[in-house]
Amino acid sequence: MHTIATVLVAGGEGRRLGASVPKALVPLGGRPLFLRALEALAGLPGLAGQVVVTPPGMESRFRDALGDAASALRVVAVVPGGARRQDSAAAGFAAVPPSASLVLVHDAARPFVPAADAVAVADAASRDGAALLVAPVVDTLKRVGPDGSAVLETVPRADLRRALTPQGFRREVYASALARAVAGGWEVTDDASMVERAGGAVTAVPGDPSNVKVTTPDDLARAERWLAGDGGTDAFRVGHGWDRHRLVEGRPLRLGGVTVPHGRGLLGHSDGDVLLHAVADAVLGAAGLGDLGVRFPSSDPRWKDADSSVFLREAVAAAAAAGWRPVNVDATVVAEEPRLGPHREAMRRSLAGLLDLPEDAVNVKAKTAEGLGPVGTGEAMEAHAVATVRRKGRDA
Ligand code: MG
Repeated sequence: MHTIATVLVAGGEGRRLGASVPKALVPLGGRPLFLRALEALAGLPGLAGQVVVTPPGMESRFRDALGDAASALRVVAVVPGGARRQDSAAAGFAAVPPSASLVLVHDAARPFVPAADAVAVADAASRDGAALLVAPVVDTLKRVGPDGSAVLETVPRADLRRALTPQGFRREVYASALARAVAGGWEVTDDASMVERAGGAVTAVPGDPSNVKVTTPDDLARAERWLAGDGGTDAFRVGHGWDRHRLVEGRPLRLGGVTVPHGRGLLGHSDGDVLLHAVADAVLGAAGLGDLGVRFPSSDPRWKDADSSVFLREAVAAAAAAGWRPVNVDATVVAEEPRLGPHREAMRRSLAGLLDLPEDAVNVKAKTAEGLGPVGTGEAMEAHAVATVRRKGRDA
């Protein structure tokens, strides 16, 4: 089993992103690119530590952005880079823990590297000395003249690959190539090319093409959409809610914000709407925000006989403030009587309105308890709910 150190090189001033901060500090989904890259690699088996190389003079900005996350992300050093690519790489390599037998060098502006790809590169580097992730070139390539307007020829692309990161090296292979690149003043744009130029073999490992480098505003917008959409391990969360209220004489029966004609209603400090309470708890739960009881204590006279719609609206607003919006809700009301089937669509519409969701994203089911337990004997009603929330992108 090899021991791995990562070196994340945060080159680039962010000018192409139109930002006033180094590219790796630009936020994606609310967190700097380099933090996301560190997170993507923090779980590597055999990881001895991660080194961050910052643009010269920017160390404290990166340390501030890291904050308390440094130890969880296994960051062992934040060091300033140099003028040339190999100088930055050498600064990072000097801070690599002595126990590391493999070094994985990664662009800090590649936040979407799959852990499996990093493991594959490490394995290939351990076996062959040096390896990098590559992706096919999908566009047809043209060679153009000096002014960029005249096409000179079409370049065959079958044997061309895009170089991604991480690029992995056995420690001694990297040390030797790096020393020669620094001493020789080589012009290099990635680390594998130092080994190539030093005469070493480099293995190409097919990588996930979505492991993109975020360089331009277009890249950033695409990355935000991807993160807010179907990508990213933390783009979605699920919450669960459950509630039960006693049925008593002399109160209106409120379910899902709808008044259902019945001889009895649900007892509660508020209107006792068991379905709205379960849904609100599911939304709060998905966003990691505790529960209704904590946010709206029954000791507060403001909520006496309150329309529980306010609780669900508040839960949605609190989730939004924490960066989450509901995607869908599925709920089940368990009641012996009355028959709820005829009211299901009205409850669904009401919930969809409160959640600001299309009706087909909300589902309400009605069940009986088969005469069993407090619900079965008509003493109480129950509701269960599951809510999915999605992380809000910057443009969402
Ligand atoms: Mg309740």
